[in-house]
Amino acid sequence: MARSTVVIGAGMGGLSAAIHARLEGWDVLVVEAGAAPGGKAAGISESGFMLDPGPSIIILPRLYEAVFARAGRRMSDELVFDRLPTLSRVYFEGEGMVDLPADYEACLDLLRQVAPKDLAGFEKLMASLDQVAPYVDQSVFSKPFDKPSDMMNPALLKFGIKFNPLRDYKMLVDGYFESPLLRSFFYGFPSYGGQTYRSKAPGAFMIPYYMLREGVFFPRGGVRAIPQAFYRLARSLGVEFQFNTKVSKFVVGDRPVAIETTEGERIEAEQFISNVDPWTLPADGQPKSGEPSFSYFTCHWGIRKKLAGFDHHTLFVPSTFESGFASLYEKRRFPDRPIVYVNDVSGLDPEAAPEGHSLVFAVVTSPAAVEGIDWVAESPVYRDRVRGEIARAGIEWSDEDVVFERIQNPLYFAEKHGNYKGSLYGPDEEHRLWGIFPLANRDPRYGNVAYCGGAVQPGAGLPMATLSGQFAVQVLGKSRR
Ligand SMILES: Cc1cc2nc3c(=O)[nH]c(=O)nc-3n(C[C@H](O)[C@H](O)[C@H](O)COP(=O)(O)OP(=O)(O)OC[C@H]3O[C@@H](n4cnc5c(N)ncnc54)[C@H](O)[C@@H]3O)c2cc1C
Repeated sequence: MARSTVVIGAGMGGLSAAIHARLEGWDVLVVEAGAAPGGKAAGISESGFMLDPGPSIIILPRLYEAVFARAGRRMSDELVFDRLPTLSRVYFEGEGMVDLPADYEACLDLLRQVAPKDLAGFEKLMASLDQVAPYVDQSVFSKPFDKPSDMMNPALLKFGIKFNPLRDYKMLVDGYFESPLLRSFFYGFPSYGGQTYRSKAPGAFMIPYYMLREGVFFPRGGVRAIPQAFYRLARSLGVEFQFNTKVSKFVVGDRPVAIETTEGERIEAEQFISNVDPWTLPADGQPKSGEPSFSYFTCHWGIRKKLAGFDHHTLFVPSTFESGFASLYEKRRFPDRPIVYVNDVSGLDPEAAPEGHSLVFAVVTSPAAVEGIDWVAESPVYRDRVRGEIARAGIEWSDEDVVFERIQNPLYFAEKHGNYKGSLYGPDEEHRLWGIFPLANRDPRYGNVAYCGGAVQPGAGLPMATLSGQFAVQVLGKSRR
């Protein structure tokens, strides 16, 4: 007998969808290709180290708390977040090092010392964001957008008119800030949503806004503790899981009636929620084509000594950052001198590295698997560029100190997580809904299929993927009524 709901994939989106579907009273089976839940946020054990290979900057824990509350549970019984004092350490080439506090007032104090000319712009931007922040909760955080009439959402309109709609994100940033420190810091945020600084993307300001106003956090037990807590919640509500089961296609009659796995198993259901990018596993089976948005190139190194100089989040900014952003955003090329973000959880996560060792996790925003980049040949080259940027700031290790090295590139994200051409945000802007929103959660053809995850609304990042699971259930709930 067909069960009510099958969720494909147990990333944050899939876990959240399963919980919300169960709360609707539906019986739910999650089918996951890997051996454990969590997707990009699942922990990986390697040579005595414990890696969190994906997310590391954790914001908006209130959105996870809301899921537990909806299930009648207290998040703090399962998952505890500690607020971090700094947003990021920044090594700015030629200028030295500063620690950006994860707090608005403390940031003002810092700017008075290091970028006094930008103080007024910073206050003005934050005051505008204070005004529009409630509208984000009332619009993009509360419902998916898929009909043109949704654009008439009053909260969305109020947000939109606050920022000059004729100006792209870079023009807005340059209008607020003169200093290379603040410009280099702000230019990167549109890429977190698959956009560029040439996009009309004032929503990208919300990420640093939440960091400063609501805080940056670290979950006890590492980032992997977040999906683990969601998995336990789902199990306790009665969601079933089937791991090591990769879905190859939807089986479609007059509408999808089953999924088929690579092993040939057929699993029937009345409705489906896919946590896989809709462009790689579309319900209608029709291949999609178009340019992908952005990806990440990451290097994890286990080092046989304690390295000094990193904070938990550290940015290495070359003096040539302007041309680096132009390469990435305008030419879709990996910069000659990339801005490198390093995550070092020693001191926060006791399992991360054995005594006397360091675990370095470097992340660079990169093009996806686009034409003209041979990721197999180029990955060692890019790896050396990344290590070179860290070394310029005086943090170095020798090859003999390396216990292991683990690289992720767009080919990995395509193969392992089913991301379209390795992009973490779905196709590029041309294919976004009305050029603004990520792909819709609703399948364009079938009322019994919905999508969740970083490629669909409200977007990528753990908190957004969590909301996407809720949206997918909302979409299916509507079509059942
Ligand atoms: C390097 C890196 C750094 C990041 N940094 C941050 C950060 O600091 N903060 C933040 O909030 N976010 C960050 N993110 C983004 C965040 O990790 C993602 O947006 C989020 O985890 C995506 O979740 P998802 O629901 O899309 O599912 P995914 O994590 O992509 O999981 C999808 C699941 O589906 C499974 N699957 C795929 N294909 C199939 C199939 N055919 N059959 C069955 N199962 C399948 C996969 O095995 C996987 O478990 C980062 C991501 C990366 C890679």
